[in-house]
Amino acid sequence: MTSIDLRSDTVTRPTAAMWEAMRRAELGDDVLGDEPTVSALESKVAALLGHEAALFTPSGTMANQLAIRCVCEAGDEIIAHRESHIIHYETAAPAALSGCAIAGLDGPGGLFDPEEMRRALRGRDIHSPRSRMVVAENTHNRGGGTIWPLEQLQELSRAARSAELHFHVDGARLANASVAGGYAMRDVGTLTDSISICFSKGLGCPVGSALAGSHDLITRARRFRKMFGGGMRQSGLLAAAAIWALDHHVDRLAHDHANARRFARGLVGTPGVELELAPDAIPTNMVFLRVAPALGAASHLAARLADRGVRLIPMGPQRLRAVTHLDVDAHAIDEAIAAIRSVLDEAMRPSGTIRR
Ligand SMILES: *Cc1c(COP(=O)(O)O)cnc(C)c1O
Repeated sequence: MTSIDLRSDTVTRPTAAMWEAMRRAELGDDVLGDEPTVSALESKVAALLGHEAALFTPSGTMANQLAIRCVCEAGDEIIAHRESHIIHYETAAPAALSGCAIAGLDGPGGLFDPEEMRRALRGRDIHSPRSRMVVAENTHNRGGGTIWPLEQLQELSRAARSAELHFHVDGARLANASVAGGYAMRDVGTLTDSISICFSKGLGCPVGSALAGSHDLITRARRFRKMFGGGMRQSGLLAAAAIWALDHHVDRLAHDHANARRFARGLVGTPGVELELAPDAIPTNMVFLRVAPALGAASHLAARLADRGVRLIPMGPQRLRAVTHLDVDAHAIDEAIAAIRSVLDEAMRPSGTIRR
């Protein structure tokens, strides 16, 4: 049977060449401070993102939360889009680990402008939380895989600086933004006080993320990483995969972006689902679909599709997400389209209402 997993770009398996790079990696003990491959990755990431230093972390969540823990005090407030990953998918860690509140902003596709940020700033009196950090997510996941235009990030960075806020970018999919947006990752990095990046998403690694920032910030983050249980030993195994990915899997993201549009084009006009964006407007590797209420919940349709070997992920009561990645080629995309059309065709027939 067909088996096409479009739930996320995290589902990829290492390629043969990546396995080989992992097998050959020189290993040490990173907690004891002598892991040559991890050190090599951290230097590479620092340079790539235009920062003094970087830290390898087990997850993107940890990278974001380390930035927050390093910068904020209990009682501080973080400013971020209300659809951001740090609000929806990090188990309220800003509150749990750092004692912080988050002020959620509106804005199209997960983006917002400096004016929105300024409106969320608190006055400096004893009643108010202290505004301390602003976070931009690039690409923006729930917003649709949206790319921040570089000029908009420049403006936000300037506004953050003049408001004395720390500017953090959640760059879990920064490489996608860079390839599709036509700017270098370092062009974004140099605008920030800290930035995270994931190797486990479109870059195709099994595990791993990084946080980049100043020497001081990263020294502090190293201590909190240990506190959070993220000190790793022969993690050069994983760092080798990340180095391989940075050298070989960045430019190819353009294929994933093309495949996302191909997928969307194949579903145009299919009764039962509606594309949130026209195929040519899809910015990166994500396609969001609205599921007709007549078909029941998005999770129900997802289960039906999974029975036919195509996996999408519900991102709301009537919302499904498909994400393209290294392990799906154009042929697999066409198979997925055919399977989805056939399921919807059955489901939308008057007698074919989906039954539980
Ligand atoms: C995936 C993701 C993260 C990190 O997720 P982990 O599963 O903890 O690695 C952070 N931000 C965004 C926008 C993401 O999509």
